[in-house]
Formats: sequence, structure tokens, C-alpha cells
Amino acid sequence: MGAVHGWAPSGVGCDCCYTIRSKYNTSKLTAVPPAIMQDGQRKSPDATSVLRKSLSSGAHTPNSEVNKRRAAADFIKQCTGLDLPYSNDLNFRQALRDGVILCETLNKVRPNAVQVETGSEAGLTNVQAFLSYISDHLQCPSEAKFSVHDLFSEDYDDRTRIVDCLLWLRKVYSCGDPVPSPFSFAMLRESSDIRAMRDSPRKGQNSVDLVTALSQQHQKQQQAQMGMVLPTGPRTLASTQANANLSALYSDMSQSLISRMTPGMPTPKYDTLLSNVMEQFLNGLSVEYERRLVAKDHELNASKEALRQFQKQVEGLQVQLDNIAGRLDAEKQQEMEMLAQEAQLRIRKLEDELAEARLVISEHAEALANAEEALGSRDGECSQREAALQAQLDETLLRLQDFEVLQQRFNAIREENKKLYNTIQDLKGSIRVFCRVRPLGTTGDPAPGCLNLGMEGELAVYDKAGERKVYRFDRVFGGQSTQEEVYEDVQALIRSVMDGYNVCIFAYGQTGSGKTHTMTGSNQAEEDVRSRGINYRALDDLFALQAQRDGETSYEITAQMLEIYNETIRDLLTEDQGGNNKLDILSTQPSGLNVPGATQIPVSNTADVLAMMRVGARNRHSAETKMNERSSRSHQVLTIIVDGVNMSTGARTHACLHLVDLAGSERTDKSGVEGERMREANSINTSLSALGTVMHSLASKSKHIPFRNSKLTELLADSLSGQAKVCMLMHIAPESTSYGETVSTLNFGNRVASVTLGQARCNVESGKVFEAHEALTKKDKVIAELKEQLLAAREREQVLQRQLQDETAQAHNFRVRACAGRPLDGLASPGVYQSRCDAFLGGKFVHRGQNIS
Ligand code: ADP
Ligand code: MG
Repeated sequence: MGAVHGWAPSGVGCDCCYTIRSKYNTSKLTAVPPAIMQDGQRKSPDATSVLRKSLSSGAHTPNSEVNKRRAAADFIKQCTGLDLPYSNDLNFRQALRDGVILCETLNKVRPNAVQVETGSEAGLTNVQAFLSYISDHLQCPSEAKFSVHDLFSEDYDDRTRIVDCLLWLRKVYSCGDPVPSPFSFAMLRESSDIRAMRDSPRKGQNSVDLVTALSQQHQKQQQAQMGMVLPTGPRTLASTQANANLSALYSDMSQSLISRMTPGMPTPKYDTLLSNVMEQFLNGLSVEYERRLVAKDHELNASKEALRQFQKQVEGLQVQLDNIAGRLDAEKQQEMEMLAQEAQLRIRKLEDELAEARLVISEHAEALANAEEALGSRDGECSQREAALQAQLDETLLRLQDFEVLQQRFNAIREENKKLYNTIQDLKGSIRVFCRVRPLGTTGDPAPGCLNLGMEGELAVYDKAGERKVYRFDRVFGGQSTQEEVYEDVQALIRSVMDGYNVCIFAYGQTGSGKTHTMTGSNQAEEDVRSRGINYRALDDLFALQAQRDGETSYEITAQMLEIYNETIRDLLTEDQGGNNKLDILSTQPSGLNVPGATQIPVSNTADVLAMMRVGARNRHSAETKMNERSSRSHQVLTIIVDGVNMSTGARTHACLHLVDLAGSERTDKSGVEGERMREANSINTSLSALGTVMHSLASKSKHIPFRNSKLTELLADSLSGQAKVCMLMHIAPESTSYGETVSTLNFGNRVASVTLGQARCNVESGKVFEAHEALTKKDKVIAELKEQLLAAREREQVLQRQLQDETAQAHNFRVRACAGRPLDGLASPGVYQSRCDAFLGGKFVHRGQNIS
């Protein structure tokens, strides 16, 4: 029943009855009135309606709403001085939407409570500030609160909460209580009205008076709150009656309530019926509230149960959480331990490394100390060694100076040696003539030889009648001479090239006499080193000298190969072997370079030379003649150009070695050619004749040398004049059939040699040698004839002896048969046989085995 006690005063004694309407359904309260109405039949109907109105002041009747709005408007006017339209709720609300009136009203209630904003957008801000303040600072009850939506709704529905709020605010304003609660019993007790009643002279009469006073006060307040204007003039009878009835009713109710609230106190009399009604009413209310309490109790139990379940879940979760936390802690612990172990290991390792490093450092420090000590001790040694080395260096420098002096002396001696060498060469003659005889029969000619080699470069040639012609040259090489032997004699000349002397070597002779063999070699020259001719050997020799003088003189060796055919110079090393391959001589250029445009190939080894020779040989012009299948119809001029720089003196040398394989020198009438071949032969003979003339002029030191008579001499002009060294290799065929050409060749050579060597001496000594040679040859011939005759006589004798033996045997046979009287085989009688034997043997009988003397 405590709940009922707690409720009853607030429901009955509250001075703000409009809040009851919103808290409890009006229909419930109107459920009570039937009993009241029944009882009320004895009372004034006005009193009943007033009671109903007082209990259900929240009933929404248009008038009451209008009254409330008017009361609220009055309050606003009181606070702000502004008149608000209150006949229509929508208009009323629209007037409040800018929030300014609300805020200013609030500021009146609580000065400076909110700041009032102005402007078109400030309405919402002001309203929210108002609502916020009354909620937060004035603890506005929820029943009196309105929302922004309530204010700004365009519905025509009444939004009574706005009015309620304003009226509540008015209450606050009137009470002056900072947080008034219209439902608080304490407030009721402490209100000035109640205090006044309690202290009134009627105090102590009875409790009914108090309740009546309360009721009246409440009614008065309610009417004032609702804007109702209480009549102040003399009251009407009806109204007085109604008030009396109402007072009675309140009195009874009050008595009943007081008796319940104050048990043991003397209970005033009261009407039984009303008591029953109130009893029922109160019972109903108690039952209802008990039921609600039970329901709430159930709800509470259910909530408690749910709370228990929730707590259980929470506990379960807590357990899980604890487990997880434990597991995490364990893992964390484990991980920490592992990390700690690893860290421990690393620390140990680092400690070990540190110890090792310290050890190494100490070792190094020790070694350093030792080294420093050793260094200190070796300083002396070093200075001694330095002094010794310095002494050695000084000595070496002195020796180097000596060496340089020696080197200079050596160079000077070498130069002198060269000069002496070349002087010797000069003394030997600047033009040397050699003669080489080809072996007999190498060309297939079966004719006997017509040559005889003498002493000291002498050579005799015999005609058919045995007449002898003797020639003398610098040297004569017989048929058995080797390529090496020939080269040995020209080698000295070739070496002069490296010293800056121009050298020309000519191979002269009729076709087939062995010129190409001497200069180039046989066809197998590339494979057979021994058969290689002067060309290869000269270049090899130059390369050897180049290597030998390396560091002293730097040499560059280049080669060019030309051919003079029909007085036209052609380049044998160019690819273009057509009509454009014609070169001209520019006589102002130095030797070897006086044919501009000629291909010059640098050569540094034998392979280069072989390759170059192959190209030249392929391009060489050859033609067939009757005398030789591959008769060379042109002059081949291989020129080796040697440029040297003395590395110590910087002196430069330039020299040329011309190796000339001349065309065949045979006479045209013998070669039997005609037409083009005849022209070839004529130009060959012309050039050879010019060469002979030039050589003769040079040898006889004539003032005018006719170099320009042929392309050959013009080409070689530089290398033939001045300090040039020339070697003429005369080639002759030994066969008697080549007697004429041989003599011609030898005469050509003799023309030059007679100048340099003097006329070939037909002195007694040499004549006797050749005569003795010839006598011996004659005797040998006679002996040979006698030997042949003797041999023939012996052969005849043997034949006759065989015949004699046969005849003797037959005669003996005849004789034996004749003695026996038997007739001879094939013979008529022994007498016939005897006569034959006698006729054959001259009457002598010869026995078997007996020699004829
Ligand atoms: P050329 O050049 O004067 O016309 P070759 O050099 O062609 O004459 O010689 C003609 C032939 O005689 C070649 O077969 C060559 O091998 C041979 N011959 C020349 N001289 C000698 C020699 N000294 N020894 C051996 N064979 C030789
Ligand atoms: Mg030849």
C-alpha cells in the first residue's frame, strides 16, 4: 500500500492538475465518475462537473485549450509585453517559431538564461537554446516538454505541450523555485499556501478543514492556471450550493483518507455510501496497482532472470576472456623466454667475438710492437743498405756513362765498318757481272754442251768446229751451283740497301736460260725453301737485318711489283689488270717512288712476301713462243723500298732494291715469231740494248747516261746512277744448240765487265789451261774410240769362238763314225765330212776344250 500512499497525495493534492491528464488515461479517471454520478444525484450537478473538471483538467475541450493559450499569452505579455494570437493553436505556434519570444520569456524567468539570436535562420537555434535550458537547468518534466517538431508542425492539431510548457514556466516564475516539480508532495507541503492554511486560526479544528482548504486552494490555483477568471463579486446561490456540495464531498474524502493515513486517530463520521464508494474506488485502485505491481514484479523478476543469464554469459565470457588472457600470457611468456634465450645466445656469441677480437687486437698490438722494435733495429740496417744502394747506383750511373761512351764508340765503329764494307764493295766494282750456266738438258734439249768453265771467273764457249771463245766475269756459277751459293755473292749488295744504298740486280739471258729460276725459284719455290730465288732470300735477309737492328734503327719495308711490256709500265699488284693499268714515270720523285700510283704493300714477314709474289706472278704477262712454252715477254721489276730512322741520331735513310727479271734476250729471227710477237721481241731487244748502253756508260763513267732510251732504264735511273750498286747476272744455256744466244749473252755481259774488270785476259796461263783441257778432251776421245774398237773386236772374237766350238764338235763326231764304218747322220760319207773339217780348220783337228791361240 506504500505505493498507493506515494501516489495518492501527488494525484490528489497536486496543484498542477493538467499534468495528471497526460500521465493517466482520462478514460480511467472517467471510469470513477459513474459511482460519483450515482452519489452525485444527491449533490449539485455543478459540483460534480467541477470535480470532474478538476480531476480531468487535461480533457481536451476547445474552450479549455483556448483558455490555456490565453493564460500562456497573458504570461508572455507579462514577460515581454507582446500580444500573441491565442484563438488558434497554429497561429499561436507560428508566433513563437522565431524563438525570440520564448527566449525572452525564459530570460524574464531566469535573467540571461539564453542568448537571443536574430535573423532568418536563428529560429531553430533560439528554440533549441530554450529547450536545452529548460531541460538542463530547470529540469523541466517530460510532460511539459515540447519538441521542435511540435512548434514547427503545420498541422492544425493542437500542440498542447507548448502551452503546457509556458504555463509550467509561469509556475516557475511565480514560485521562484529553481526546480519546481508540480508533482512533489514536499513542494506542496512547503508551499506558502499550505503553510498559510496550516498556520491559519482554523488549525486544529479537524483535518477536514485542512483538506477543504487544500481543495479550495487547489481549485483556485487551477482556475488561475487555466486562465479562468474567478468571480470576484457576490456569489450566486447555485454557485454557493455547488461549493458547499463540493466541500462536503471533499470533506468526506478527506476524512476517509486521513483515517487511512492516520490510523488510530479518532475517525470522523462519514457517510457510509460515500465511504463504500471511496472504499471500492480505493480498493479498485489498490487492486489495479497491486496487479500492476505484481506485473512489474514479474517484469522485475524476468529482468532479474535475464540479468542473471546475462551475468552468467558475462561470467562465461569472463572465463573465456581469462582463458584467452592466460593463454596469451603463456604464449607471451614463452615468446619472451625464447627471445631471452636468443638474446642470451647472441650475447654469448658477441662476447666470444669480442674475446676473439680482443685476442687479435692484442696479437696485432704485440706484432706491431715487435715490428716497431724491428723497425727501430732495422733503421740502421736500412740506412746502411741505402748507402750501399746509393753507392751501387752511383757506380751503375758511372758504368752507364761508360756504356754510353762505348755505345757511341760502337756506333761510330759500326758506321766506319759500314763505310769500309761499302768501300770494299765499291772497290770490287759498283757494277758486278756474274754468269750462271743452267744445267745441261733441263729444258729437254739433247744437244751436247759447248761450254767449259775455267778458273777465276773464266768461261770458254766452243763452236761446232771446236773454236774456243773465252769470257771473264766476276764469278761464273756452273750448272751444279745452288741457289744459296748464288745468293751468297749478291747478299753483300742487298745488305747495302739497309745502309741507304740503291741496288739493282738484273737477270739477263735468253728464254729458258734460268733467269726466273735464279730470281724467283722453281715452281715449287713456296714449298721448297732451298729452291727459293734471290727475291725471297733478299727480303728474308732484310727482315733479319731489321730485327737485328731493332732498337737502333727503325725500318719500314714496302714492296711494289711492276712489269714493262711493250714499253708500257703496268702494276702487277693492283686488282685492276684492265686497260687502266698503265703507269707513268715521274722522274722528279726519288727512286722507288717515281711511279706515282703504283701499289706499294708493306711487308714484314715471309708470308707477306709469298702472298705478294703470288699476286704478281698471276698477273705477269706471259706468251707462248716456239722456244719456251711460258716465255716471259716482259721485264719484271720487284722493288723493295726501305725507309730507316736511326733512333739515337734521328738520321733517315731511303733506299731501293730493284730485282729485275728481264725478258728473254733471244734474237727474233730464231724465235720465229711474227706480228704481235715480233713487236714484243723488238721492244724487248730495244730495252735490253738500251740497258747495255746505260750499263756501259755507267761502267765507263760517261758524262751522259742515256736513261731515257727505254722505260726500263728510265725507271731505274735513280738506282743505277750515283752510289748505286749494280749486279748483272748473265744466264746462259750450255747446249751447243744455244751457242749463238750464249755468245750474244756473254758479249752483252762482257761489254760491261770489260770496263769494270778490264778486257778478259787471254793470258798464257788461262790459254794453257783451256788447251790442256782440250788436249785431254781429245785424248779422252781417242781412248774412248780405241775402247770402243777393242770392245767391238772382243765381241767379234767371242762370236767366232762359239762358231769354232760348234764346228769342232761336229768334226769330232764325223771322225768317230768314220772309224766305226757307220755312215754319218745326214752325210754321204766320211770323206765328205773330212774335207769340210779340213776346209774350216785349215787341216787342223781341235779337240774339245782346247783354246784357239
Ligand atoms: P727463263 O726464266 O730464263 O726463261 P727459267 O728460269 O724458266 O728460264 O728456266 C728454264 C728451265 O730450266 C726451268 O724448268 C728451270 O727449272 C730450269 N732451270 C734453270 N736453271 C736451273 C738450275 N740452275 N738448276 C736446275 N734447273 C734449272
Ligand atoms: Mg723467265
